[in-house]
Amino acid sequence: MLFGRKKRKPITIPDKKVKEWKYTTCNYCSTGCAIEIGLSEEKRIVTTRGHAGADVNRGKLCIKGLLEHELFESPGRGTEPLIRDKHYEKFEKTSWDNALDTTAQKIKEIQDKYGKDAFAVVSTGQLLTEEFYTLGKLTRGCIGTNNYDGNTTLCMASAVSGYKRSFGSDGPPGCYDDFEHTHCFMAFGSNLPEQHPVIYWRLKEALEKRKFPLIVVDPRVTMLAQFADIHLPITPGTDCVLINSMMHVIINEGLQDQAYIDAHTEGFEAVKALVQDYAPEVAQHQCGIDEDRIRSVARLYAKAPSAMSIWTMGINQSTHGSDGVANINNLNLITGNIGKPGGTSLSITGQCNAMGTREWSSCSGLPGYRLLENPEHRQEIADFWGIDPEFFPKKRGLAQTDIFPAIETGDIKGMWIVATNPMTSMANTPRIRKMLESLDFLVVQDVYADVETNQYSHVYFPASVWAEKEGCHTNTERRVSLISNVLPPYANSKPDFWIFNQMAKRFENGQKIKFPETPEGAFEEMKQLSKGSNPYGNERTLDISGMSYEKIVKARGIQWPFSEEMAEEQDKANGSLKGSPRLYTDGKFQTPTGKANLICVDFYDNNEKPCKDYPFWLNSGRVVEHFHTRTRTGKIGNCNKFSPTPYMEMNPDAAKELDIEHQSYVRLTSRRGDAVVLVQLTQRVSRDMVFIPFHFHDCVNRLTVGLLDPYSRQPAFKQCSARIEKVDQAEAARLNAERRNY
Ligand code: SF4
Repeated sequence: MLFGRKKRKPITIPDKKVKEWKYTTCNYCSTGCAIEIGLSEEKRIVTTRGHAGADVNRGKLCIKGLLEHELFESPGRGTEPLIRDKHYEKFEKTSWDNALDTTAQKIKEIQDKYGKDAFAVVSTGQLLTEEFYTLGKLTRGCIGTNNYDGNTTLCMASAVSGYKRSFGSDGPPGCYDDFEHTHCFMAFGSNLPEQHPVIYWRLKEALEKRKFPLIVVDPRVTMLAQFADIHLPITPGTDCVLINSMMHVIINEGLQDQAYIDAHTEGFEAVKALVQDYAPEVAQHQCGIDEDRIRSVARLYAKAPSAMSIWTMGINQSTHGSDGVANINNLNLITGNIGKPGGTSLSITGQCNAMGTREWSSCSGLPGYRLLENPEHRQEIADFWGIDPEFFPKKRGLAQTDIFPAIETGDIKGMWIVATNPMTSMANTPRIRKMLESLDFLVVQDVYADVETNQYSHVYFPASVWAEKEGCHTNTERRVSLISNVLPPYANSKPDFWIFNQMAKRFENGQKIKFPETPEGAFEEMKQLSKGSNPYGNERTLDISGMSYEKIVKARGIQWPFSEEMAEEQDKANGSLKGSPRLYTDGKFQTPTGKANLICVDFYDNNEKPCKDYPFWLNSGRVVEHFHTRTRTGKIGNCNKFSPTPYMEMNPDAAKELDIEHQSYVRLTSRRGDAVVLVQLTQRVSRDMVFIPFHFHDCVNRLTVGLLDPYSRQPAFKQCSARIEKVDQAEAARLNAERRNY
């Protein structure tokens, strides 16, 4: 409060006594900010700052990046491997050899008794790319289970699936630089200022230089919606209706780019016929956006010289997330907005290295976007690794969201969970708790020993974090950046890369397959596997063969494709080594015909919706201070101080009807469970909706239903129904304080 002050306290920046700055990359979200870590004379990490010379963030960081140096010595870190017979017994410290031997033996016992696929591996989007590649080699090449997936199924699976269906391959086709060129920007279910603050800053910077319309589609008045020129507060789960109706207007008014459609797409006539059922005067009653608005937005988008769409969880976390992505791609294909500056379909990825796992982990296939279903791909990788191709399954196994229910049916008996926390992140956590309790064997590998999922493990592997390791990340715009190893592993924790290599030695195929000793050695293998063409003879988009650690650091991130030839050309031309900002610039896609697929997306309404007993839509999302399940940010003083407790946004009119006050506690109940939360009255949500941040343990995911998308198997976290009840305030406050101790 400055008003009335005579003497203002001057702002001072404390001298952290930095002796040396070390380059690395942020380990939280997919923006991919370049960070410099400040080391004191005693080689202690004392601060972080944004790297001014990096194209992604140009010196900026959000609160998480600014405080990231605090996580190395934060409470709860795993110091030693731990072991116990039963999950309800006390852990005992053990040696790495014993922890690894016991785990390998348990995996083999379960596989011998129940079959190879009875042991599942569930990974993450948080590891480094070389670690993903090595885990894939271990799981696909040595352990041999087909039930191997990552938590990216909870966030990006719909984007992957939609890209594959439309363009024949995964890989976001655009980049942040498109903000500088676009003439119309449409965001679907994406709250950039809170989820990707530095991408939002890039957008704002572009808007300050040159005004273009900002359209936001979101049922909630998010921070981005507050800044929008046009906000479309859509009925949850009806994005397909809105897009079909926009295409109805565009096609019926002849605003499509027919030359692009004819030259580069297939399936236009079928889509044209389908969208005739979505006239704005009909669609408005399903999607809640009035017909005039639909028409004016459709015209604005189609008439813009270039237009782009971004989306995040509002599209992906839905029972028709994959269809939503395919339909955004449809919109951009029919308006000729793919592969040109300012015209693109850009999924804003969630985790720092969700892209790395998509590219190299072999979760849903084999490394480098290869498919288990393709015999040539199986042969190629088997030859490269030196094993029999028959060791590989011939189609992909279960996704993460199907692996957990397979515990209930007795098909999965053991599991290895790496750097993910399903006890907080999965929908319907009361059910997940029972599943984890019933496993014959669970090994948890995590930076933190007190991560909630570790309550149910038999063995715990303490992992090193961030700059205690070395390797790459790929960000939202396909930019590969390096995490530099700045300090040694904490206590007796080990880099995930080391853990996977050691485990491989305990399996028969681990003697045949070469596992490089260093992450850079693994990167060299990935480079070799990235060369060449796809099965249809087109150049492989995911080509990193021109990169090296040295070049990545010099350029502060390089965007793939970046072939050896490209590296030579760019080096000769200007030495910039930036790679390829956009995909499909020549209109050639990764499909058998080289044309993109226009896909008919019909709307089906299978969401759990508000009803008499559960009259509110329950929506969830992020706050800027926290990342995912707070395993890291929950331990960082200022992140926790600014966002200490779960809260629920509620409309004041709805609250008045139920006699609920601002900042009182309420109990929110769904068909699955309940949670006690603090009420925050706000007009950001409509009368029939409440919103809760998803980061907190024993909170919103006790209620969510998580119906699955048929293509991507991603859960619909954002669409379910709940009712609100009053609670004893003193008891609720006690419970809240108890939870905040975590
Ligand atoms: S925007 Fe994302 S990458 Fe950048 S500092 Fe924040 S969390 Fe890190």
